[in-house]
Amino acid sequence: MLTLRSFVVVSVIVSVNCQNCAKSNGIRQSPVNINTLNLIYDWAPSLKWSFGYALTPESVYINNTGSSFSLTVKHKWPLEISSGVLDVPYKFDQLHFHWGDHNGIGSEHTIDGFTYPLEMHVVHSQNTKNDADQIVVVAYFFKVSSIPNLGLQSLLDKMLEAGPKKHEIFEIKPFALSQLLPEKFSYLTYKGSLTTPPYTESVTWIISTLELPISESQLDVFRETSKMDQGLKNNFRCGQDLNFRDVRLILEPVQYSHSSAHMLLQLFLFVAVVTALGPDCIQNPGAFQSPIDIDTKTALIKKIGKLEWSTGYNRLPENATLISNGHTVSLEMVSRYPMEIKFPLFPVKYKFIQLHFHWGNKFDVGSEHTMNNKSYPMEMHVVHTQTENLLYPKYIVLGYFLSLTRKGTTGLEEIIPAVVPAATTINAPIPVKRFKLLKFLGSHVFPYYTYQGSLTTTPYDESVRWIVAKNPLSITRKQLDVFYKAAQIEIDMLNNYRCTQDPKV
Ligand SMILES: [Zn+2]
Ligand SMILES: [Zn+2]
Repeated sequence: MLTLRSFVVVSVIVSVNCQNCAKSNGIRQSPVNINTLNLIYDWAPSLKWSFGYALTPESVYINNTGSSFSLTVKHKWPLEISSGVLDVPYKFDQLHFHWGDHNGIGSEHTIDGFTYPLEMHVVHSQNTKNDADQIVVVAYFFKVSSIPNLGLQSLLDKMLEAGPKKHEIFEIKPFALSQLLPEKFSYLTYKGSLTTPPYTESVTWIISTLELPISESQLDVFRETSKMDQGLKNNFRCGQDLNFRDVRLILEPVQYSHSSAHMLLQLFLFVAVVTALGPDCIQNPGAFQSPIDIDTKTALIKKIGKLEWSTGYNRLPENATLISNGHTVSLEMVSRYPMEIKFPLFPVKYKFIQLHFHWGNKFDVGSEHTMNNKSYPMEMHVVHTQTENLLYPKYIVLGYFLSLTRKGTTGLEEIIPAVVPAATTINAPIPVKRFKLLKFLGSHVFPYYTYQGSLTTTPYDESVRWIVAKNPLSITRKQLDVFYKAAQIEIDMLNNYRCTQDPKV
């Protein structure tokens, strides 16, 4: 992963003397500089690599093509990538490299002006589709490391021998390509071209955000060959104009976490910290994702009836604590009496687990649901669950908007003093003065909007009956400031809301 240090290095851009710095007349030429502030965050299934990549091929060959070293294989098993942003499988053709004379140059693509010393292109193609989608190049950046890259070794062993003999094919010790090519990563993708003649505009680029290690002495082998063949010296093309093309960041699903903010920080430390801390605005393809915009004009009016609250809600609990999981603060209560709700549509009871909050960094953002496209500064979720009957949703979440007023809703004042202490330490319960939850929740829930949706944090489980109170609770400016302060202490709480999910047809 990149470090903030390398972000600083960006400002010291080296003047390059690559061999091919002419701007092309094309409209979708490659490579490009990728400005991380303009990325579109997106979702796609994982890229699939056929199992052949994990098996040792019969033979592996390298040759000096005159502009790089190209690696090809003879394999019993198909080598194909599919899924992800690809709609048909693409077959492996070859892989090759671009590098420079020193660590400040080498890669073709650059990130916020930052250049890597080496970029590897794994070229795949297919011929069933139109010309514009013929080729997929998976690109990996290499970063100098004290650890050598073992996946490169058998290639490097033969490179000095193959270097002077242009176009001659050398067999190298076979190895499974998966040793060199990590298969799971978040990636940048855009439509571009070949970076060598004839610069055909037929390439879908998939650029791994996972940087691969390479040692200085391994890089030296690449540079050594440049002395044998001038065609191998600084064999990278300079950046071309992006021309209004979109560059999407596709997040590897397994890396999803509650807040995209934290994850993006891990992925892209070169994104300025403040801009990375946005809400989780990735659109999930699921059909019942939450939150949603509640359009009060099209909502159906039904007489469903009131919620029933068990006795535990109307007694002082034995114990009440506020606890941070890093993303939000949750109120937990232990009561001698059952704390369960009964929703008229389902015959099972739902047990209280906890209630927590979502908020933003200013008054007009923060709630997860919106009402006629209006956000509230906060939203509270009261999570209930049942495991008795699988026919019914696993969760009922009561959602309450909080709106700014002069006087906060009774009960909130007991929670507020624990917010900052809770934010300061993850997973440490902070005592809260006991109060009756029913007063806080019960009288405010009716009338409500209800729909079938999902959790708004990972794993986005679509087994949630949402009950969203029509009338907001109240919070004062001073109380809201306490939550803003918590987010300054635990930066991952900043904008800890998920954006509304588009309705699916
Ligand atoms: Zn290339
Ligand atoms: Zn929530």
